[in-house]
Amino acid sequence: MRLLKAAFVAWALSAASAHALNVFACEPEWAALVRTLLPEARLTVATTAAQDPHEIEARPSLIAALRRADIAVCTGAGLESGWLPMLQSRAGNVKVQPGQPGMIEMARFTRLIDPRPATLSPFAGDVHPEGNPHFHLDPARWPELARGLASALGRILPAQSAIIDARAQGFAARWTDHLARWRSRLAGSDRARLAVQHTTFAYFFAFAGARVVADLEPRPGVPPTPGHLSETLAALRGRAPEAVWLATYQDPRSARWLIEQLGHGRLIVLPATVEAGADEVGLVRWFDVLVEALAALTATVPAASK
Ligand SMILES: [Zn+2]
Repeated sequence: MRLLKAAFVAWALSAASAHALNVFACEPEWAALVRTLLPEARLTVATTAAQDPHEIEARPSLIAALRRADIAVCTGAGLESGWLPMLQSRAGNVKVQPGQPGMIEMARFTRLIDPRPATLSPFAGDVHPEGNPHFHLDPARWPELARGLASALGRILPAQSAIIDARAQGFAARWTDHLARWRSRLAGSDRARLAVQHTTFAYFFAFAGARVVADLEPRPGVPPTPGHLSETLAALRGRAPEAVWLATYQDPRSARWLIEQLGHGRLIVLPATVEAGADEVGLVRWFDVLVEALAALTATVPAASK
């Protein structure tokens, strides 16, 4: 009788998990994509737009969430190397250990810009050992990212792979229309010259054709130093950028100082990802905000000032 009861409990649990799969998303943008491809999943999102995804605290609640996760969807390419390995080791959940099918790294489905030589010293202070991992900022990559995630999910959930694929195709078709709209709004963006602090938005600027003329970080992940800031100021004097463009989580003091010294330029602060509860609509709205901000900035630059 007890055996029968145990078997029943095991069956009930597996039946329940088939309907409510636990998915752990390292960043809100992947949670948004999971909501499109696997709307029935129960999601935990580890980070928000207010946090630097390179370094978050391995809170007990995140360890617990990763422990019960069936699938984890993260950026990879070293973005989470400061905290995810610790979560994986403390969670002790075999399904989401490195190399397991349940541990999905989105970087597998695209090609990084600024790839680094394999010989780069880990002590160089560069937080992008494999290249720039902020590829979710390139709207043109989302169809391939959706197809990649769909195929990885389909391998874990073969019974649902057809419907997941169909959802990814639907996403890609809708996305094509958005891309056309954004490209047309961003025409002329090569007139805008921008300073940044970290290469967070590099993929977005590459998509738009905007030019990044200075980075307030001496190396990716190294906060601005007085020496680097004064060199940057000297290089930009007489040809100030139209704006210093920061992510919400970045400290704006160096950018404010630079703008004040140059006597020119705007400070633009925008989220580097969607809100934690966002879905596909939220993704589109977020890119709308980025596109409109850059289009508005470009509109202030005379066409002849290239
Ligand atoms: Zn980074």
